[in-house]
Amino acid sequence: MSNELEVGQDLTRLQGNGRTSADVLAGYGSAIMPTFGTPKRVFVRGEGCYVWDAEGRRHLDLLGGLAVNALGHAHPTVLAAITSQLSTLGHVSNFFATPAQVALAERLTALVGGADVDARVFFANSGTEANEAAFKITRQTGRTKIISTEGAFHGRSLGSLALTHSPKYREPFEPLPGDVTFVPYGDAAALAEVLDETVAAVVLEPIQGENGVVVPPPGYLAKARELCDAAGALLWIDEIQTGMGRTGSWLVHTDQGVRADIVTLAKGLGNGFPIGACLATGRAATLLGPGSHGTTFGGNPVAAIAGLAVMAVIERDGLLANATAMGERLASMIHLVGNWHIAGVRGRGLLQAIVLNKPIAAAAVDLALDAGFVINAPRPDVIRIAPPLIITGEQLDSFVHALPGILDAAAEVPA
Ligand SMILES: *Cc1c(COP(=O)(O)O)cnc(C)c1O
Repeated sequence: MSNELEVGQDLTRLQGNGRTSADVLAGYGSAIMPTFGTPKRVFVRGEGCYVWDAEGRRHLDLLGGLAVNALGHAHPTVLAAITSQLSTLGHVSNFFATPAQVALAERLTALVGGADVDARVFFANSGTEANEAAFKITRQTGRTKIISTEGAFHGRSLGSLALTHSPKYREPFEPLPGDVTFVPYGDAAALAEVLDETVAAVVLEPIQGENGVVVPPPGYLAKARELCDAAGALLWIDEIQTGMGRTGSWLVHTDQGVRADIVTLAKGLGNGFPIGACLATGRAATLLGPGSHGTTFGGNPVAAIAGLAVMAVIERDGLLANATAMGERLASMIHLVGNWHIAGVRGRGLLQAIVLNKPIAAAAVDLALDAGFVINAPRPDVIRIAPPLIITGEQLDSFVHALPGILDAAAEVPA
């Protein structure tokens, strides 16, 4: 039997010290289910906006764990909060309450409620679970029909998948929970056509992230609110990717003066500590009654304190304003530097798409990694940038200056 010291040393070794990327990838190839394809890098350490691979190469993280690491890596405040909560009380069942859980619920409901609006939260561990809770809320209305949009992404569990548009994701797993109708995104007239008194809810991303950072026309969400009110349907806004400061405001829809009945959150909320939240207001806040839903881990105090730490730092350090300023800087720098492969830049705050006029985004992602930048290609002709909200102008500039070379080389890569 190993002693305490040996177990400790062994666990440290398993974090990657001394193991090469090739060694880890060989293990990945045989021990991990092949859902994600071959990983492009093995990362062993992160600090601020940088991550290091097993060979010690530094990369500027412009993806932030897919819009998750809002405060970058190893943020001291989040680290201290998590460590202190974990060493005090790490988990209790949902037969019991903890102060951190309630404090985060109060903090989050204040974002969507008001003095005269009841708002409540159901805590989960991921985006798709937050959406499952929301889906169950809609079923409590006595109606079953849900309107979703073309290009929508709401997660991979069966309920969320039913609301996700891509046939490639959906069709192998049909039949999925019904009944869901898809209408063109950003098209209020198309929504009006299908939105009648049989509809339980309309689910919308305020900006479609996975579809390539697609921004709807101004007034779209407000019009959806109006149509939902007229039909007695719930408006459910999925802010899992856009929320918690990513676009320069806590939530995109409230920033536009729109009230939602249901709001789902996850990604940026815990800075990488798994947490999801389903918020509901007004009558929707109590549609899930005693015994109607549950979770073992959801609402655990460590995840809750992570969320509280993230919100406190975003506020203290003015990171909403930084997200707005850095998003504008990125867009204007890209226009300034220019490259004939770039068709345009779209997005809001630090959720930005560089739209290309050729399907070379995947090749650009690989070449960017070689050049020390983590970016992502949600579509063949779109590069997505979703860096930590703490990113600096100099860090963004370093990427923008490397971009033309990356794109020129990507265009040379055989398809
Ligand atoms: C990522 C995402 C989800 C799913 O979240 P998971 O944590 O991966 O389950 C749902 N909706 C939107 C808009 C997302 O971006």
